[in-house]
Amino acid sequence: MTRAKPTPCIALLSEVLDMRYLTAAFQETCPGIDLRAGTDLGALEDIDAAVCWFAPPGLTAKMPNLQLVQSLAAGVDHLLADPELPRALPLCRVVDDTMAAGMNAYVTWAVVQQHRHMRGYVADSAAARWQERPITSPRGHRVGIAGLGALGMACARALAAIGYPVRGWSRSVKTDLPADVTGFHGEAQLGEFLSGCDTLVCLLPLTDATRGFLDAETFAQLPRGAHLINVGRGDHLVEADLLPALDSGQLGAATLDAFSHEPLPATHPFWRDPRVLVTPHVATRTDRRVIAQQTLANLSAVQEGRRPMNQVDLTRGY
Ligand code: NDP
Repeated sequence: MTRAKPTPCIALLSEVLDMRYLTAAFQETCPGIDLRAGTDLGALEDIDAAVCWFAPPGLTAKMPNLQLVQSLAAGVDHLLADPELPRALPLCRVVDDTMAAGMNAYVTWAVVQQHRHMRGYVADSAAARWQERPITSPRGHRVGIAGLGALGMACARALAAIGYPVRGWSRSVKTDLPADVTGFHGEAQLGEFLSGCDTLVCLLPLTDATRGFLDAETFAQLPRGAHLINVGRGDHLVEADLLPALDSGQLGAATLDAFSHEPLPATHPFWRDPRVLVTPHVATRTDRRVIAQQTLANLSAVQEGRRPMNQVDLTRGY
């Protein structure tokens, strides 16, 4: 006789987001689920799994029966920043086709809007100005993607499909790249990779090795006038290096979706610089049903002694 599984108890933890937006998705996926959110989490010993997005530091460490820590999103930097995170537990992130489709749409828009002068046309249209700007084929504009993971690879395929020559950079060598994507890996090939990026897209995870990757030294290795797109994390960019690179002409433009301090303060110079396009960390979102499904599937896997999906390698930090 098989015993009925106990009802899972899941805590939804965030200091910056009202996590109750996930309630319906969890209840649909698992009717009768014991969900805890907000400031009153009840008895912490009840909690089996914690779904986190900038959770209060130290809180997961106070849950004695916790079996799984699940990031709400693709990145786990917000969790690894907690020195008390229970590192012996499986830490998982969400990998989701819907999230990749959203990132494709954003990155494709960001590449095209700059390459085809769309901001100029928006201004022209508002001023009833008929004015042609230079038209160059995608074939003549090389796009480089730093980070060829779940999201970077999806963007590489999408951009190659509409004619951009695409190159990607990863930590390890890739043997399964599509024929129209050129791969580079490791520090030794970084300079060669950067030298062929008319647009550089940052889709790296934030780790000790990648923090500050977008700095003056990196910009200096790009072709003059390159476009920078940062859809990784704010701390990939050394903010103090950006405006000087734009002023010198080494960079031509920047499209930024992630910032060290979010929301970006209204007084920040990026808002007022016409060469910088700011979006409020909206490149993509995780589908709430996928969060619920992956969390519950991962909890079952851990309870049954199987490896959960999308488990983070703590030694690599992503
Ligand atoms: P993955 O973990 O699937 O991929 C990470 C990629 O970066 C891999 O190709 C990896 O190399 C490469 N990489 C990691 N460290 C290095 C390094 N030191 N040098 C060179 N390459 C490195 O991540 P995802 O694609 O799922 O997500 C990427 C990031 O996108 C997330 O961590 C998050 O920060 C950001 N993001 C932003 C969103 C937004 O709305 N702005 C939304 C979602 C995610 P290798 O393949 O060899 O392991």
